[in-house]
Amino acid sequence: MRSIGAPGPGKHKRIYYLLTLGCPKNEVDSDLIETRLAEAGWRKTVSPREASMIIVNTCAFIAPALEESIEEVLQLADLRAETGAKLVVAGCMVARYGERDLRKLLPEVDAFLAFKGYERIADLIEHLTRAEDEIDEGWKKRGFAIAGYVPESIKDGPADRLRGKRLFSGTLDKGYVYVKIAEGCSRRCSFCTIPRIRGPLRSRPMEEIREEVRFFAERGAREMVLVAQDCTQYGRDVYGRPHLARLIEDLTCLEGEFRLRVMYLHPEGLSEDIMQAMKSPRVCNYLDLPFQHADAEILRAMGRRGDARSHLELLERARKCLGEVAVRATLMLGFPGEDHGAYARLRGFVQEARFDWLALFVYSHEEGTPAFSLQNSAWKGTVRAWVEELSEIQDEIMRQKASELVGRELQVLVEGISAEAPGFWEARSWREAPEVDGVIFVHDSQSLRPGTCRKVSIVSTEGIDLVGVVKG
Ligand code: SF4
Repeated sequence: MRSIGAPGPGKHKRIYYLLTLGCPKNEVDSDLIETRLAEAGWRKTVSPREASMIIVNTCAFIAPALEESIEEVLQLADLRAETGAKLVVAGCMVARYGERDLRKLLPEVDAFLAFKGYERIADLIEHLTRAEDEIDEGWKKRGFAIAGYVPESIKDGPADRLRGKRLFSGTLDKGYVYVKIAEGCSRRCSFCTIPRIRGPLRSRPMEEIREEVRFFAERGAREMVLVAQDCTQYGRDVYGRPHLARLIEDLTCLEGEFRLRVMYLHPEGLSEDIMQAMKSPRVCNYLDLPFQHADAEILRAMGRRGDARSHLELLERARKCLGEVAVRATLMLGFPGEDHGAYARLRGFVQEARFDWLALFVYSHEEGTPAFSLQNSAWKGTVRAWVEELSEIQDEIMRQKASELVGRELQVLVEGISAEAPGFWEARSWREAPEVDGVIFVHDSQSLRPGTCRKVSIVSTEGIDLVGVVKG
């Protein structure tokens, strides 16, 4: 029986370190974990060396994300060996691969926690910190039955929708909060592992979302960022048809000085009523559209519909309905069957669409997805060259768009002092989403405060970013 140098039974510091990897939906899950731990009297530290409990909320939807998760876990396992802390691994890696396989791969880990166990994480770590010998033998073999963790079902059964009130948001001090409106996805894009990891669509009741938005608005949040795997399908499972437009209308009636931003809008689900609801002055004129590709054949092989012409028509309808609107797109290169012709159609689409922001992904051959059986992927070097060319085209578009905004006045949310640009603060207007788009560097001013809204004049650009001064 291996001793790990922890202080005697019961004398454990109730201090935890939580590392969150992946997307905003994982950040919301971590907020829930933090809430449960705080309720149980645990204190959070930003220094893993100080913690008696180390928790890693992993991401695993594609191979590069999985590699990063494993790398982070191994690094923290080394620290665990030094400090005697307990190491708990949670998140999508556990849901995708299950405890049995992960235990072989990562024997250093004390516990694997599935989505189902989040609500009872405090029980789990109480048990983990109780007298070691009891835990090492019996507990690991049983695989956390007490905490409601049933190893077998993890791999096959999706987690139920995370419940319980969230009292924290890791981004509230910057003035914005991610609000997860649904879990899982019922679409079947052929390259995607998420339906297997997160399960089918499970929408939160509107009243629950309304309460959460009200809760954070009362605590000073100035921007609510609605997230899900695909927000356009919100409510289809519980109300019988998509209800995003209704939800937006409902939330924009709430008291409070906040604006809404909606992320992850599958193009096929962006309906007229959603666009109409987004006309509200309290909703950012911002569309996050993961088009993935613009070639009809590639889209069909991806399990999607449309082509460059239908995509451009959708953008035209949106710009007609919403007026000046910022569009963020996500595109994937290297999907099996993509040849120079298909790539040329995608390049033409990017040049014509003139996105405000663009995320480029390289296709990842993921086991368990329908596309895994597809062959005929373009040579890696070719795909890299396509990514480089599209990045250059997009970078030029973004620089042009930035320079067109010089002289404008924009209402911005001030997030905080810039770590990147001394003497400046970082802020965002309606056209920049948090963490993924460009920013507005605001010249330092005594009157600036993080998490507040101010009017700024755009005086210059810094590459694709804007530079502004506070008005009034
Ligand atoms: S809509 Fe998004 S999450 Fe759902 S299957 Fe497609 S890519 Fe995956």
